Amino acid sequence: MKIKNIILTKIFDSRGEPTLEVTLIAYDGTRGVAQVPSGKSRGSNEASVVPFDHAKRALAGFMPIMRRMNFASPMVFDKFLIARDATPDKHRLGGNLMLGLSFAFARAMAAEKKQELWELLEEYYFSTKSMASRPARPMIFSNLINGGVHAATNLAIQEYIAVAKPIGTPTEMVASVIELYREVGNAVRRRTKLRRLPLGDEGGYAIDFQSNIVPLEIIAASIKKLRFDNTFSLAIDAAASEFFKNNKYYFEDKQLSSAELAEVYGSYFHRIPSLMSVEDPCSENDAKGFGLVHARLSDAWIIGDDLTVTNADRIARYIDDGLITGVIIKPNQIGTLSETCEAIATAQKRGARVIVSHRSGETEDTAIIHIAKACAADAVKIGAPAHERLSKFNEYIRIFS
Ligand code: PEP
Ligand code: MG
Repeated sequence: MKIKNIILTKIFDSRGEPTLEVTLIAYDGTRGVAQVPSGKSRGSNEASVVPFDHAKRALAGFMPIMRRMNFASPMVFDKFLIARDATPDKHRLGGNLMLGLSFAFARAMAAEKKQELWELLEEYYFSTKSMASRPARPMIFSNLINGGVHAATNLAIQEYIAVAKPIGTPTEMVASVIELYREVGNAVRRRTKLRRLPLGDEGGYAIDFQSNIVPLEIIAASIKKLRFDNTFSLAIDAAASEFFKNNKYYFEDKQLSSAELAEVYGSYFHRIPSLMSVEDPCSENDAKGFGLVHARLSDAWIIGDDLTVTNADRIARYIDDGLITGVIIKPNQIGTLSETCEAIATAQKRGARVIVSHRSGETEDTAIIHIAKACAADAVKIGAPAHERLSKFNEYIRIFS
């Protein structure tokens, strides 16, 4: 595919932070548009994010060369970007610019081939043979109560997640998530004098609680009340890098060691039987702590996010070391579509779980749902069914129905 023009637009994400939209126009006039999200609880090994003006200058610098080339595939295009940048953290071009270009290229190519984005991704990155035993549809991880740096409240744990299993039609599944979200809202409202509940960055309810386990108890009780026991489980994202300082976890007025924190999680999993998954239970600088949690919770999903940052080498190392059993995949942590798909394939080859995830600062871009379909992911993590996050829920319905 030959590129005629690229338009870079400064837009704003759901947190009001500036971000990028890329419109790529091919020679035959087909277009691909991509919007880049942004994270707040970022891993320190994520790809660099550069300001808009930097991205604009960087693009202008290689636009003439790019116009002269003919890119045969998304892989060839991404390789070109990676070579132009030539830095380990993508700070020359910016991981945000590279991701926008990478996705806009794939979208334009899909449009040229009259394909859905997921069909193109499946064709180029995921062989259908190895997918025979993979789930037909991902679970939905929906973050209903927000804490940590996503909310101005007293919760150390960042995300309290309802996990919808792929039972019934996609529309029925999303309707159940919405019903549960409302019921949890009623239960949370009864604990406050507020008529309108404050929401965190991902659309979950954001108030103070007596302790970090109470939100799990509330969601579990709401699931029971709605008789959703067979269709929902629970998960947490501790995002523990955010409350780890001087080798201690600052948790509910205490300073805990990794072993003590692993005991806290152990008690949560014991008291809440439907709890199935914990993401970033320890800091990105405490890989050993992940091992302790894994040993304590042998049946749970132990998921890396800040620890693994969608980087194939880190994912391979931490799965092979037995520290995690699954990974969060966030394309903007690594900066290109090809490297995102390589990270997924690395995890899947090792039998680890794959959860394709949004960021706290989101746009209406729905590419993550297409990635989840193409790779037959175990789950998508897309926040509460509200506001800008609904675009992901609705795309889930559209492409899985
Ligand atoms: C997360 O930690 O999983 C998350 C989605 O938050 P952020 O985008 O702020 O990293
Ligand atoms: Mg996380």
